[in-house]
Order: sequence, then C-alpha cells, then structure tokens
Amino acid sequence: MSKTLKNKKDKYQKEKDHILDFLAREVTCSVCLMIPRTKKIPICRNGHTTCKTCKRMECPVCRTRIEDDMFSPLTLNITDLLAVSCIFMDQGCTIKLKKKEIVNHEKKECKFRKLPCQGCKVKFEAFTLPNHFLNCSKTLCEEDVKLVETNTYHYYLYTQIVSCEPSVFKLENSKNWFLLCADVLEDRLLFYIKHYSGEERKETFSYDLKIFNEGKTFTRSMSGVCTPIDMEIVDAKKGGFTLDVNIEAMAKMCICIDKEYNFGWKVEINLFQTDS
Ligand SMILES: [Zn+2]
Ligand SMILES: [Zn+2]
Ligand SMILES: [Zn+2]
Ligand SMILES: [Zn+2]
Repeated sequence: MSKTLKNKKDKYQKEKDHILDFLAREVTCSVCLMIPRTKKIPICRNGHTTCKTCKRMECPVCRTRIEDDMFSPLTLNITDLLAVSCIFMDQGCTIKLKKKEIVNHEKKECKFRKLPCQGCKVKFEAFTLPNHFLNCSKTLCEEDVKLVETNTYHYYLYTQIVSCEPSVFKLENSKNWFLLCADVLEDRLLFYIKHYSGEERKETFSYDLKIFNEGKTFTRSMSGVCTPIDMEIVDAKKGGFTLDVNIEAMAKMCICIDKEYNFGWKVEINLFQTDS
C-alpha cells in the first residue's frame, strides 16, 4: 500500500473512531456507565437515555419524570453500531464486540466466565479449570492422551448405579481437555464427553464410545461429537450427544463376580479431530 493511501486510511479510521466514541458517550447510561443492551431504551422529555434496568421515575440527569411508554429508537440504532464491553471487564476481559455478538462471547467463550467442575460442582473462572482438574479430588485426571488411540477407563461401584465421577483427560501438545461424564437422567445413565479448550471452541472433536461388562456380554456403543463444556445434560441428550443406557439393564449385566465391588464396567474411547 502506498504511503499516502495508508495515511488516508489511518485518517479515515481515526475519524470513524472519533465519531463512534462520541456516540458511545452520548448513549452511555448515566447510572451504570454501560452502553444499554435492552431491546427498548427509556428516554426522558429532554432526550436523556438510561438502560431499562437502571430506569427510575425521574431522569438521573435532569430530574424530569420518565414516562413508562417513552423509548428511543434512535439510541437503540446507535447502540447496535457500537462495540460493547464484556460483562467480565472488571475481572480483566478486554473484549469488545457488537451487542449481537457479545452475549455469545460471555456465555461460551470468555475465559473469565464461570464454569462448574464436572466432578466437585464448584464454579471456577474458565481459564483456571485445567489447573483445578489436576488438583480436584472428584475427578480422575490423565494427561497427554493421544488421538485415535483407544483409551480405556474402569468404573467400579459399591452400591447402586448413580452418577459417576468424571474422568478428565488432556490431549497431548494441545489445550484441549475432555471429560468423560456419566450422569443419571430418569431411568438412564447417560455417557457423554465434554470438550473444553480454554477459550473459544476452535477445534471440534468426535469419538467412538463403548461401554461393556467384564465378559462383554453387555455392550453399548455410539459415535458422536463432543459436547460443548457449557451444555447442560438435558440439552446434550436432546442434541444426540449422549449414549443412554437403561440403568436396570446395566445393573443386571454389570454385577461384579468377585464381590469386591457390586458393579463394574469398562468404557473405551477413541477420539478424532473433526475438520472444521
Ligand atoms: Zn444503566
Ligand atoms: Zn433527562
Ligand atoms: Zn469476556
Ligand atoms: Zn472439581
């Protein structure tokens, strides 16, 4: 690019930023100092706007009464143009995106969002989870697992078949972690594999999953795509992410013969990276 063209572009960008900054100041709520995100933005007779959640009887700027049915479509249109800060700004997130995109970031990508550990159920900031997995007493942790190599996990239970502590494993040379979960939903034990990759889900993985008893007289298997770490069990089931096994049938077929444990079974997993 020629120097004059670059200068022109820089100048144009500066002017644009200047206008957007000005607009952002104009529409920033004077109560919470954030750019309003609600679908309707209340306005007073003198044109001051606040977000819907901060709205009071009186305008916080000029003290005139704010009518219940007065909203500003113009302010709404302006807020659609602006990049708004992530709600985890105070925790250290510097991401700014358009209103439409920021919610997805906050829910599914922000490294400061809180995620529960599948084992102990305590919530942690997403980026601290791997470190927690290594120390959590409720998860079985394994590092440097390879792709397309069968990994076997053993489950033994003393009493009836209920949710099992998840096995956590980290793919070698990557930031990808996987959690083999088994949760009870109604009369079924649902097996599924959650995928966690630190921040946004850049890569997708699929798997072959096989459950079987000692004599292999009972086997259930499926191939599927890993469940996003944020997904609830009910949605995972609906989305076809889970291998559902009838608990009664399982209890009948997975009784341990040596009597040391009441029930036991093995889980075999093959992981594949899915082209995205
Ligand atoms: Zn506000
Ligand atoms: Zn006002
Ligand atoms: Zn964020
Ligand atoms: Zn934990």
